[in-house]
Amino acid sequence: MIVCKFGGSSLADAAQMKKVKAILESNPERMAVVVSAPGKRNKEDEKVTDLLYQCNALAQKGQSCRPVFNEIVKRFSSIANDLKIDEKELSLMLDDIRVAIDAGHGADYTASRGEYLSAFIMSRYLGWEFVDAADVIVLNSDSTVNDATYQKLAERLVSGKRYVIPGFYGETEQGVLKTFSRGGSDITGAIISRALNADLYENWTDVSGIYRADPRVVENAAVIPSMSYKEVRELSDVGASVFHEEAIAPIYHAGIPINVKNTNKPDDPGTMILPEAEYRGLSGVSARKGLSRISLRKLMLFKKSGMRHSLLTMLHIFGIRPCFSLFGIDSIVWFFETKQASESVCQAMCERLLKDFGLDRITVDHGYAIVGIAGQNMDEGVVASDAVVALRDAGIESVFINAGSSDTTVLIGVKESSADDAVRAIYNKLFA
Ligand code: ASP
Repeated sequence: MIVCKFGGSSLADAAQMKKVKAILESNPERMAVVVSAPGKRNKEDEKVTDLLYQCNALAQKGQSCRPVFNEIVKRFSSIANDLKIDEKELSLMLDDIRVAIDAGHGADYTASRGEYLSAFIMSRYLGWEFVDAADVIVLNSDSTVNDATYQKLAERLVSGKRYVIPGFYGETEQGVLKTFSRGGSDITGAIISRALNADLYENWTDVSGIYRADPRVVENAAVIPSMSYKEVRELSDVGASVFHEEAIAPIYHAGIPINVKNTNKPDDPGTMILPEAEYRGLSGVSARKGLSRISLRKLMLFKKSGMRHSLLTMLHIFGIRPCFSLFGIDSIVWFFETKQASESVCQAMCERLLKDFGLDRITVDHGYAIVGIAGQNMDEGVVASDAVVALRDAGIESVFINAGSSDTTVLIGVKESSADDAVRAIYNKLFA
């Protein structure tokens, strides 16, 4: 039995939805489908989810969402019209949703309606049963999945029937609708796969798998034929997008394989993601941009126990959550996402840390990227030295090198302005 998830570009218009139907009907094993909201039809277009967030922003300012909502109405009506689905029920739903958005139902409710409507249309078009995610996916207040979900799904989904389920959202035990983070329909697909104990989770998108490097950076980058759960998480942590990194968690223990496939080229094999990949070698290289660096120094910094913890707590108070750390005998360096703190917040934080901890020095500077090379059972020493040589030959300075903290990644800090060149240099040396 196969669970499928189709992303926004696969559902962008009626023509794409026809491809989805053909794919689903070509294999009787495909029993459940999770859908995203309609995505972009072309480069200049807007995703329905983005339009919905704009609607919510208008409503929060006390303005009517109608001007933007009309765009959404046009998109869904034209899809329904092309697919010959009765528009009356849809138009009543759209009216109710607009009124609820204007009444201030909030960002999560508003954003979730794209998936809801997309699933409603697909269920009518396919003749498969619609199951509202709000009735079966129980979320905790931090949007993590509550185990009660699996009980509910076991009661609701009957074997032998075919279902359409909207992605991206669920409901708390208190009945509050909540979304996952952006791209979160992948997580819904994983939850349904686990609930149905699927043999395979097919994740359909608009590219033929996960690339060894971002094809916008490395022209003709190759697709990764097969990789492990761990490598996917490591690659998404350093900026590779295609599969949501949190979507591994629901299926981790069940060990369900994932196949990332292309709706526009369904015969391409795509990328298989397996609990453990059998090969030994490299899978890909990616760069996470938009990082800033905090460097601090104090003589005998670590002499006092709990110092590192207290410093981190203070960073959290200022909204900074470091994604990478380096420690010296008397110094610490943290990297964090620049968007987490404005210049004035950084300044206030530095003043507070200097005063409270008697630091000798603290600086914050911006414009960094971390380049990650992921692989399976790799010899990190060799990979790191080859990568550093590639960077040196390309005239790119490394800010730090981290090898050995995991057997699946080597991380190298670079200036953000040279991140793309760094990815190209490493790809050409290690993958081409
Ligand atoms: N529609 C949501 C987004 O644009 C969720 C998803 O597509 O997975 O992020």
